[in-house]
Amino acid sequence: MNILALPPGAACGFHSGAPMPVAAAHVCERCGSFFCSGCACRTRPEALPMCPACWALRAQSVTTNKEHSPTRIHSVGLGLGIASLLPIPVLQIGSLVVNIIALVRSFTPETESSRWKAILGLVLTVFGFGIDVALLTAAVMFK
Ligand SMILES: [Zn+2]
Ligand SMILES: [Zn+2]
Repeated sequence: MNILALPPGAACGFHSGAPMPVAAAHVCERCGSFFCSGCACRTRPEALPMCPACWALRAQSVTTNKEHSPTRIHSVGLGLGIASLLPIPVLQIGSLVVNIIALVRSFTPETESSRWKAILGLVLTVFGFGIDVALLTAAVMFK
């Protein structure tokens, strides 16, 4: 099933410490190294196997993505919360939506530490709405 051809007699490149060379069964489609069935790593049973080195790299990038994406919305929400102190209703509406989403998403162990950002963002948004109302009232009263 491999796209890349496996030369006859190729040995697993990840069993170099073994007393006998282990016959390779796959070619890594990412880096082209040979590896045996025992060293094959797959995301799904039907997926093409990956060599242990590429697997480790892949696992690393997956973890980094996990660390970054779930809490990004909290920083955006907090930024919008600060921006919503300006008397621009569009900013407050946007901030309200983003911070509510951020708050809902902060109930997981990875995002728990960012929950304060969502709460502070919401508090700032409420302040922003208050400023809007105060300015509007002042505009009506002192016309
Ligand atoms: Zn590889
Ligand atoms: Zn092997």
